[in-house]
Order: sequence, then C-alpha cells, then structure tokens
Amino acid sequence: MTAIALDSTTLDELDAALLGDVVRPADPGYDTARRIWNGDIDRRPALIAQCRGATDVRHAVRFAREHDLLASVRGGGHAVAGHALCDDGVVIDLSAMTGARVDPRARTIRIEGGALNEHLDRESQAYGLTTTSGIVSHTGVAGLTLGGGIGHLMRKYGLTIDSLLSCDVVTADGDLLVADAQEHSDLFWALRGGGGNFGAVTSFEFQLHPMGPEVLAGLVAWPMGDAHEVLRFLREFAADAPDEVGVTANLRLAPPLPAIPEELHGRPIVALALVYAGSIADGEAALAPARTLGSPAFDAVMPKPYVAHQKLFDPAVPHGRHYYWKSHKLGPLDDDVIDVIVDHALRITSPLSTVPIFTQGGAVGRVPEDGTAFPNRDAAHDINIVASWMPDDPEPGRHVEWVREFFTALEPSSKGVYVNFTSDDAAARVRSAYSPTQWERLVDVKTTYDPTNFFRVNANIPPRTV
Ligand SMILES: Cc1cc2nc3c(=O)[nH]c(=O)nc-3n(C[C@H](O)[C@H](O)[C@H](O)COP(=O)(O)OP(=O)(O)OC[C@H]3O[C@@H](n4cnc5c(N)ncnc54)[C@H](O)[C@@H]3O)c2cc1C
Repeated sequence: MTAIALDSTTLDELDAALLGDVVRPADPGYDTARRIWNGDIDRRPALIAQCRGATDVRHAVRFAREHDLLASVRGGGHAVAGHALCDDGVVIDLSAMTGARVDPRARTIRIEGGALNEHLDRESQAYGLTTTSGIVSHTGVAGLTLGGGIGHLMRKYGLTIDSLLSCDVVTADGDLLVADAQEHSDLFWALRGGGGNFGAVTSFEFQLHPMGPEVLAGLVAWPMGDAHEVLRFLREFAADAPDEVGVTANLRLAPPLPAIPEELHGRPIVALALVYAGSIADGEAALAPARTLGSPAFDAVMPKPYVAHQKLFDPAVPHGRHYYWKSHKLGPLDDDVIDVIVDHALRITSPLSTVPIFTQGGAVGRVPEDGTAFPNRDAAHDINIVASWMPDDPEPGRHVEWVREFFTALEPSSKGVYVNFTSDDAAARVRSAYSPTQWERLVDVKTTYDPTNFFRVNANIPPRTV
C-alpha cells in the first residue's frame, strides 16, 4: 500500500498529531520540500513529515509502520545517493530541528538531529569550543556523525563519534530511548559508525574542546605540474606532523574566486587546506614546511576565525548542482598511487569537479578498532572523487565515467571505504566498509532494534530476521 492510497482523513490525523507540517504532492511547498543537496536526485515521496521534535518523529515512525509504508529519514540531506528521500513513501524530515545548547561548564553541546555543521560550530564557538565536524558547513551533523565524521580537527580530537556522549533515538517501534555508555550501550556502539540503520536520532550530545576562535588556517596551492612533489610532501608531512595540524589536499581546476590569481583560473591545481588547532605562533612553525614547499601559486594561510575555515569549501559544492562520487580509504601515498591520482586528476572533465584527499592519523588511530563501528582507523587518507556538473550539462555521463575510471585505477590500493562516502555503490560496498567482527556486531544490534528493517533507505545493514 502506498500513501497515495491513504484517505485524506488518515493523513489529516497525522497532520493534527504533528507540531510540524505534513507536505503532500499537491501542496505548493512539495517541490521545495523534496529538494536535497544533490540536484541529480529526483524522488517523489508520498508525504513529507516535517518534524519539530522527538514526539513528531515518534508519530511519523508509528504512522509509517501502521500503514506499511517505506520510510526515509532526512537530516542535512547530503547523502549523495539521496538516502534522505524515498519514492512513494514517508520522509521523516528532521531538517527543521536545528536547535543547540552548549553547557560551557561541562563543555558539552546538545544538538538536534536536523542540525548542520554550521549550527554546531556557531553555538560552540560562542564559548571558544568545538569538536570535529566536516569540512563543508552545510552538511548534516546527523548523517556525518552516524557514519563516523572526518574533518579538519580529527588528528587532534578524533572522529566526530569519538566526542559523542549520548543520543536520543526514536526506534523502529516509535519508542524514545537514550543510548550512551551506560544505557543501551550496544546501540550506542552501533550508532558510532553504523549509519542511519538503528533509529532516528533526535538529538546528539557531544564533548567539546577548546578551539580558536582565531586559528591559523587557509589554502596553499601549486600548479598541477607540482602535484607529484606536493603529494610526496604530504606523505612525509602527514606521518610526522603534530596532531594539531589538519591537512586536506585537493586537486581540481582553479575556480574563478577572488582569492585565486586570475592567471590560474581554469588551470589544474593542487592545494593543501591547512589548519593548526593551537596557538597562531605554534601554527606558524608547524605549517611552515608546507608553505615553503617549492613555489606556491598562492598562499592564503592566515589567522582567521575557525568558523571561516569551516566554510572554506562551501562555495565549491553548493546545493542543487548535480553530483556523483566514489571513494577509497588509502594507506600512505606511495609513488604509484600518486601517479594514478595525478594522471586522472589531469583528465578531469568538469571545472566543477574536485578531488579532496583527507588525512587521518593522530587521535583517529589511537581509539581501539572495536571501541566504535568505524573501521580502518589506521588508514592514512580518504580520497573522494567528486564529479559535479550543471543541471543542463548535455553530457553528464562523461563526468560519471571519469569518476569510475579514476576509482577503478585506485582499486588495487584501496583500504576499504568510509561508509559516508559510498554512493550508488552503498549496497554493494556496505559490508566491506566494516571489519568482519564489526559487521557481525552491527547485524546483531540491527536485529535487536530493527528486526523488520524499517530503517532501510541508507547504506543498509540488514537484520538476521529479514
Ligand atoms: C558537500 C559535502 C561535504 C561532505 N564533507 C564531509 C566531511 O568533511 N566529513 C565527513 O565525514 N563526511 C562528509 N560528507 C559526507 C557526509 O557525512 C554524508 O553525506 C552524510 O550522510 C550527510 O549527512 P546528512 O545528515 O547531511 O544527510 P542525509 O542525506 O539527510 O542523511 C544521510 C543518512 O543518514 C540518515 N540520517 C539522517 N539524519 C538522521 C537522523 N537524525 N537519525 C538517523 N539517521 C539519520 C539518513 O537516513 C541517511 O541514510 C560530505 C558530504 C557532502 C555532500
């Protein structure tokens, strides 16, 4: 049965039960409400339950259960494969739930399940605090955290999940639980890396850490001709740098931004996004080796608000453009891997595409592998091959093909995949995104908390019961 077959009285009952709105296909706001970050996704849910709190989420879950409807959960709406939406089913939409409250004495934040990284940073930076979140401020805290959470500060403060203290979770039965180290600790373990499989998280509590508010941070870039040298440097630098150094490489065609010299616009470049999670003076010394490597085309590293650095990449990946990506975890970048990366980066097909290479290490690798559901903590890098094109591009297939060829060429060096960087390959790769022990444990937790696989529009971990 689909919701289209539900009579309007039943839908009105749901509407009346929610503080938020129920949006249906005939409603004027429907097309806006079903829009997510990736403009390539065009799904038509039967209804969108725009929740305003945990009680709304419980009603929406129970409604979908009672009427045997497919349901998806929407946080920030950034899963590239469009897992926030489903065709013909119910979208349990938490995107209006962005409230946050910092406890400055305990250095914690309680933040709702639809909040974005920018909400986390904005509220916690008011007290000179934050925790690791992603490198684009409009990404959802929920999806990012539930998959692990990698970002500029991970070498200093670990993954986002390493600072997670507790979650409020609406389960597949519509119950509201607290999951933390004491209560439902099996569920809490699975929520730290297992994705959206176990329930709808209505709020997260994180430990915060001192940060800035002013930090030494920014981009240094070189012409792509120097890419071999820069990536070899990154290999050595990543191995020895203090935990305070965050470094993400990026290969692309230089966008026409004021910060980038005009003669470089449209030319292939390699850049390092650098941040030092400590004093400006210590940062000057720690980042100097990167800034004095060869002859950078530009060096925009400077003291700046931490929140500004967190927004550095926002304009490069706006909402509504079309995107496709594939990703690998990698070890230290050996010369052969560097050759493959540079070779394929030079064949980039779109001025909007980009290849970020995140650098793990530091605190990420010091958490035991069985402590959370995040595997391969000893991987050195995550590469994400991100194609992007305008909606009216006459030949989108060539950009997708570029991603696939690049991905295949790196496959022999793959150390698995970060579950949040899976895409249309999520079903095929989800199992290999975890260690065999983690996988079995995740399936056990799924079987306990969601035996009918209600939460299945995601990188799905099926229960033993289905
Ligand atoms: C531009 C961009 C930049 C990115 N940068 C980074 C980065 O720096 N670091 C990083 O680690 N990842 C990064 N990612 C990947 C990102 O972590 C994933 O795309 C993640 O799924 C986004 O979460 P979301 O809440 O925005 O997405 P959504 O599409 O809303 O949700 C993603 C998944 O989580 C589930 N989910 C969402 N909200 C909830 C909830 N409240 N409770 C339970 N399940 C929920 C959904 O059902 C879905 O399966 C980036 C993605 C994009 C598009």
